[in-house]
Amino acid sequence: MDTDVLIVGAGPTGLMLANQLARRGVRALIIDRHAGPARETRALGVQARTLEIYERLGIVDRALELGKRGTGANLWAEGRWMAHVPLSDAGQSMTPYPYLLILGQDDNERIMGDRLRELGMSVQWNTELTALEQQPDHVMATLKQPDGGQRRLSAAWVAGCDGARSSVRELCGIAFAGAPYEHVFFVADTEVTGSMVPDSVNVYLWRQGFHLFFPMRGADHWRLVGILPVELRNRNDVSFESVIPSLRSEAGPGLSFKTCTWFSTYRIHHRAAERFRDRRCFVLGDAAHIHSPVGAQGMNTGLQDAYNLAWKLALVVQGRARATLLDSYEAERIPVARRLLETTDRGFRLVVADNWLAGLFRTKILARIMAFAMSRKRVQGFFFRTISQTGIEYRTSALSQSLGSMPGDGPRAGDRFPWLRLKLAVGGPIEDLFQKLDDTRFNLVTIGQPPASGGAALGDLLRNHAIPDDPANDAELRRAKIPRRAFYLLRPDGHVGLCGVDVDSAAISRYVSERLGCVPA
Ligand SMILES: Cc1cc2nc3c(=O)[nH]c(=O)nc-3n(C[C@H](O)[C@H](O)[C@H](O)COP(=O)(O)OP(=O)(O)OC[C@H]3O[C@@H](n4cnc5c(N)ncnc54)[C@H](O)[C@@H]3O)c2cc1C
Repeated sequence: MDTDVLIVGAGPTGLMLANQLARRGVRALIIDRHAGPARETRALGVQARTLEIYERLGIVDRALELGKRGTGANLWAEGRWMAHVPLSDAGQSMTPYPYLLILGQDDNERIMGDRLRELGMSVQWNTELTALEQQPDHVMATLKQPDGGQRRLSAAWVAGCDGARSSVRELCGIAFAGAPYEHVFFVADTEVTGSMVPDSVNVYLWRQGFHLFFPMRGADHWRLVGILPVELRNRNDVSFESVIPSLRSEAGPGLSFKTCTWFSTYRIHHRAAERFRDRRCFVLGDAAHIHSPVGAQGMNTGLQDAYNLAWKLALVVQGRARATLLDSYEAERIPVARRLLETTDRGFRLVVADNWLAGLFRTKILARIMAFAMSRKRVQGFFFRTISQTGIEYRTSALSQSLGSMPGDGPRAGDRFPWLRLKLAVGGPIEDLFQKLDDTRFNLVTIGQPPASGGAALGDLLRNHAIPDDPANDAELRRAKIPRRAFYLLRPDGHVGLCGVDVDSAAISRYVSERLGCVPA
């Protein structure tokens, strides 16, 4: 076998998968048909859940240094300021990163590419996948090499991280159902001054649509995203100058543009692959789902597809788990993609509908409803969990099992385990539990009982974390609605696999061998 995993595509999704496999010691080859990394910013919102993953990968400091923290949004309608929508307040207790980090896709790719090189792997550029042949125990891939020649290569598994026009998806005959929207988006990187509230996403709603101003690194640097006015929609010669009148008409005549370094228009689609796997090939990221950029979810969802698949692939490649474990990738990620398509589609239609009534709703009512709703703590919490992707759960997955009666409002099997600050040693300081979790292994968190030997079946793949009795811990556990006696077996991606009241070694062993398909080392 030439390689264990062939990763096709070195966009954000492929780079995340390559990093996660490299740090687990898996032999992988990552290729891209382009000559080098993309220069365009494209996606620019990095969500809290992605930052948590970046932290484990050792790149969060660099991302925070380069990015700008968006702690909320300001809504404007027909040139008038309407409301402030806070993002951070509700997130303070949920994650170490209670904001949207505004950091261009190019920077994200650069940081992940640098880390990958540190881990001893690098992208093979100018290399294109042109054909695939699936065999029972491997895949034969045909690659067009930088010198124009062809190479045939055998891989145990192929990960199609090759974007919306995915060759892997097409070569596997996986349908990509959906449709394009009639609206055309534009993006522009500008240096501009105007009414915008600094360090905040400014949303200008108007009768024909919306314009978003994202604060970027550097003085007066804003990324503008909007939909083209109807009269420009079917023209091929649209330039930044042609959208300035519509920008001025609702973001105010006071807008003063100094430079525009990048302008692009694009038509968006909403589509999802009917399957995320065909035998030994997987599709991830834009190859599996594309949707409107409303909510800044696209790139983040691809990164988390990769995070979900990586630990499973690593266990299977290393002979620590049976290949059936890989079935859970599709079972867990397809519902996430479908939900995302539905919500972004609803949100998108609401903010772009062309009719007169929708225009009136957008400019007269929407901002007020948002401001009122967001003054409610529960709504704020729901909104933050949804946007930040910390609320993604796999409760119906075959890998999620709850033993005995666990409280319904606390963490459940399938949920991302909550962010807790606890005393991890008797008389010790309060520490961030996330910092202690090893995401290349399983983590067994036991509360109100002695440290368990219950994870023996996982051997060196397990870390134990016994939470000592302490008043400070009681308060933190109460806040997270965690019972005073409980255990949580966390998967490497931080989601609860198995949970229950009393640690039960036999039940953990059964879970590990039957549900995860792990085989003894
Ligand atoms: C103009 C624009 C603006 C956008 N703005 C936003 C935004 O504001 N927010 C947001 O969330 N998302 C946005 N997106 C979407 C976002 O860019 C994608 O969700 C993200 O790039 C998906 O990453 P990916 O790695 O899955 O795919 P991609 O980034 O598309 O990477 C796929 C890679 O695969 C390579 N490849 C393809 N076929 C082959 C082959 N046969 N062999 C080898 N290599 C191959 C390509 O060269 C490419 O490098 C925008 C997209 C565009 C085009």
